[in-house]
This record gives sequence, C-alpha cells and structure tokens, in this order.
Amino acid sequence: MIKENSQKILKELPEGVELVAATKQRSAVEVAEALEAGVKIVGENYVKEAQEKFAILGSKAKWHFIGHLQKNKIKKAVKIFDMIETLDSLALAEILDKECKKVSKIMSILIEVNSASESQKQGVLVENVERFIDQILQFDNLKPMGLMTMGPWLDNSQELRPFFKKTKDLFDKIKSIYQGKLEWVYLSMGMSSSYKVAIEEGANLVRIGTTIFGGRKPKK
Ligand SMILES: *Cc1c(COP(=O)(O)O)cnc(C)c1O
Repeated sequence: MIKENSQKILKELPEGVELVAATKQRSAVEVAEALEAGVKIVGENYVKEAQEKFAILGSKAKWHFIGHLQKNKIKKAVKIFDMIETLDSLALAEILDKECKKVSKIMSILIEVNSASESQKQGVLVENVERFIDQILQFDNLKPMGLMTMGPWLDNSQELRPFFKKTKDLFDKIKSIYQGKLEWVYLSMGMSSSYKVAIEEGANLVRIGTTIFGGRKPKK
C-alpha cells in the first residue's frame, strides 16, 4: 500500500508543495517503495536510523533531518543530510557550522519555531526568531531557508490553524525584512492529520508518515 498511498498524496498536493516522507521506524525496504512511487525527500528523526538507510538508499533521496539534533551526532548528520529542518539553538548552530566547514559543505537549514510558546517544546519562540537569524547569519556554512513548526498536540487539526497562521505571518515578515539577503523559500508545517490545514495556511513542505506507511509501533 506504500506505493498507492504515496502516489495518492503526491497527486493531491497542490503545485509548489513538496512532500517529505517521515520515515522514523520504517525499514529501508519500505522507504525504497515510497521513493519508487515518486517521493523525493525523506525526513528522519534519528541520525543512527538515518545512517543505516542512507547506506542503502543514499542519493536516491534528499535527506531532511526533522528530529531533535544532539550535539554528539552532528558530525555524522553532516555527512547524511541535505537539510536540517529543526535548528533551534545557537550552540547547535555553532557546532553544525564548524563540522560543515571541515567538509566544505553549506548546510540548508530551517529554523524550528515554537509557535504555541509551550515551555516543554523545542523551537525558537516567535518573538526571538529574527534575532536568532541575525545570529546565525554570522556562520558562513549555514544557509537559512525558512521555518518549520510542529504546533501543539491537538486532536482536531482545525485547532492548529492559528499556530500555522502565526508561523506563516512570521515567515512573510522575515522574507520582507531580509529581501536579497536570504533565499527564504520553505515553510515546513503539517503531518498526516494536519497537512491539509497547513497547506491552506501556506505550508510548502509537509511531513507525512502514517498516511504513507500506516501506524507506527508504540515506543518501547
Ligand atoms: C513523525 C513525524 C511526522 C509525521 O507524523 P505522522 O503523523 O506519522 O504523519 C512529521 N514531523 C515530525 C517532526 C515527526 O517526527
């Protein structure tokens, strides 16, 4: 069903919206099936898991990191990923830049926004994003290209709409402020249960796992 599910989503996405297949816990064989169906971007949450699949699938996909990046995994992550969607701290930016320099790589990054200002959540608070961008512009090997947000855990996707909207407004504001300075193009919002609402609110990267691959095993 992975093939059919992937094709169905790819067909229904509006022009200009790209699909990131969220592949945590999926095998290389499952991911390969999605790639054969036309999926171009794979989103991984864990570096170790990504390494195993990258060894098999490598350049058949673009690799986006969508999890919480740990400092001691950055060196390995730099070898695999084409984009880090979840940059949210200066400390991480510093190490990422340093490791990218070592291998002469310019890493595309999205800034993860904590759009509901939840204390326990990853991401930069909306009001701090501009200052954060100014800070990461000092790093020659990082290329900020947009924003990513998860939003709060809510059962009803309509309730996520205000958080997507807030992130889109911020995206637009930054686009106008940094005109000519940044290639500011990606807004990554929406998962299986919320991507349609996210697209209505301006997302152009959607991260979809369950709708492509089926349910995940509960965490051990
Ligand atoms: C798992 C995951 C997704 C996809 O979630 P589904 O509900 O399975 O579509 C999207 N984004 C991130 C950051 C994830 O970890």
